[in-house]
Amino acid sequence: SKVPRPMKPTIKVIMSKKIPIAVAHGDGIGPEIMKATLHILQEAGAPLDIHSIEIGEQVYNKGILTGIAYNSWEILRHTKAFLKAPITTPQGGGLKSLNVTIRTTLGLYANIRPCISYAPFIATKHPKMDVVIVRENEEDLYAGIEYRQTQDVYKSLKIISRPGSEKIIRYAFEYASHHNRKKVTCFTKDNIMKFSDGLFHKVFNEIAKEYPHIQNDHWIVDIGAAKLADTPEIFDVIVMPNLYGDILSDVAAQISGSVGIAGSANIGDRGAMFEAIHGSAPRRAGQNVANPSALLLGSVLMLLYLEKTLLAERIHNAWLKTIEEGFHTYDIFKEGISKYKMGTQEFALQVIKFLDKKPQHLTPVTYQNKNKFQTIHIHSHSTAAKRELIGVDVFIYTNQNPIKALTTNKWNALSLQMISNRGVKIWPDGQPETFCIDQWRLRFLSKNNLCITKERVLTILEEVSQAGFDSTGTENLYLFDKKPGFS
Ligand code: NAD
Repeated sequence: SKVPRPMKPTIKVIMSKKIPIAVAHGDGIGPEIMKATLHILQEAGAPLDIHSIEIGEQVYNKGILTGIAYNSWEILRHTKAFLKAPITTPQGGGLKSLNVTIRTTLGLYANIRPCISYAPFIATKHPKMDVVIVRENEEDLYAGIEYRQTQDVYKSLKIISRPGSEKIIRYAFEYASHHNRKKVTCFTKDNIMKFSDGLFHKVFNEIAKEYPHIQNDHWIVDIGAAKLADTPEIFDVIVMPNLYGDILSDVAAQISGSVGIAGSANIGDRGAMFEAIHGSAPRRAGQNVANPSALLLGSVLMLLYLEKTLLAERIHNAWLKTIEEGFHTYDIFKEGISKYKMGTQEFALQVIKFLDKKPQHLTPVTYQNKNKFQTIHIHSHSTAAKRELIGVDVFIYTNQNPIKALTTNKWNALSLQMISNRGVKIWPDGQPETFCIDQWRLRFLSKNNLCITKERVLTILEEVSQAGFDSTGTENLYLFDKKPGFS
C-alpha cells in the first residue's frame, strides 16, 4: 500500500461493560442495511461498544491496495466480533477479494449459512426448508493462486488439505450436535477430483464415525445441488468445500425466499465475523429499498456467539413477528401475502416496535443456553506416510506438435513415460481427434519407480531446455507409502 505502516498500534480498545465489536459499513447497500441493523441492536439494548472501521471501495480509493488499513487489523484483533456489511469486490481483475483476505487472515475457517423458509409469509416453493450450509472458508480455489503460463493457458490452484478438511467437517458435526440437527450431508465432486475432493470425502467418512448419533450421507455435488434446489427438505446440515458452499448457499437462500433474508457467521478459533450472505447490490444502493434482514440475522448470530442469547432471541422474535405481520421489503413483497411495502429504515422501525412481541404463526425461537457457536480446537491426524520422489511432470509451452521431437530425443536423467495435453493422453496411444492447446505435460519417471534426488529433476529440466523446449513449470511426482501422489 502507499500508506506507511505505523510502527506501533495506535488503537486502544477501552474495556467497559459493553462488548467491543468492530463494524464495517461496507459498499453499495451496505451503509443503509448497517444503519438499520445497528438501530435495531441499539433499541434492543445490545451492550455493544462499536468501533467503526473502513474497508472496501473507500479504502481502495485512498490508494490502500489491500482495501483495509493497517490500523483496522488492530481493531479487529482487539474486539470480540466483527459485524461487516457487504463490500464490492473487483471482478475479473484488480485485487484479491477483501472478504477472502479477512476470512483467511483471521483464520475464520467455518462459514455457517442457515437458509430457512418462512412460509406462508414469505413466498417460496419450499415451505419446509430448513438447511444450514457449512462452507469451508480458507481453502479450495479461493486461495487465489493463479498463473498465466502460456499465450492461451491460465491456471488456478485448488488446494484442499487434511487439517482444513478436518476442521470444517468436525465443525459441521459439532454444530449439528449442539443445534439438535439430525443429519450432516457432504457434497463433493470426488468422481472427478479424486485427490482434492477425494480427501474431503474421505475425511468426512472418518469423522462421521465419531458421531454415531448423527446420520450422514454424501452426494456428488451436481446431483446434490439439483436435489437441494428441488427438494431442500431432505437436507439438514450440508458441509462443502469453499466454492460449492459459496454458490449453493446463494441458491439455498434465494429459494428459501430471498438472498436478502439469510445471515452468515464466519467462525475461527480466535475471532468471528458476521454478515449477510448477499453482496453489496450496487444497483439498489442509495434508494432505501434493500432488505436489512440478512445482516440483522447475521447480527443475531453474533449475539449468540457473544452469549447474549436472550437479546438474540428478543430481536429474532421481533423480526419473525414483523415478517408474519406482512411488513416486507420489495424483494419479498408479494400481493396477497404482504401487507405493507417497507423501505429499509422503515422496516427496522417496525422490528423495533415489535421488540417485546413473539410471532404467533411462525415458531418463536428459544435460544437459552443452547445455541452457542462452538469454536473447536482441532489437531490434525496427519499421517506420516513415507514420501519418495520418483519423477517429475514438466509443462512446456509450444504451438507446434512436439511429440516427434520429444519421443526421438535421448533423455538421460529420467525416462519419458507420457505426454498429455489438458490432461488427455497424447502419447503413447493418443487419438487423432484430441484437440490440443499450447501447453503440454511431459511425464518423466525413474526406472522401476526408484527413488531419485532433486538433482535428477534439475538435470531433466536442463535436458528439456537443451532440446529446445520452453518449460513453464514442474510438479514433482511422489509415492506416499508406495501409492502414487499424482493423478
Ligand atoms: P448481490 O448479492 O450484491 O446482489 C444480487 C441481487 O440480489 C441484487 O441486484 C438484488 O436484486 C438482490 N439483493 C441482494 N441483497 C439484497 C437485499 N439485501 N435486499 C434486496 N435485494 C437484495 O450480488 P452481485 O450483484 O453479484 O454482487 C455485487 C457485489 O457484491 C460484487 O462486487 C460482489 O463481489 C460483492 N459481494 C460481496 C459479498 C460480501 O461482502 N460478503 C458477498 C457477495 C458478493
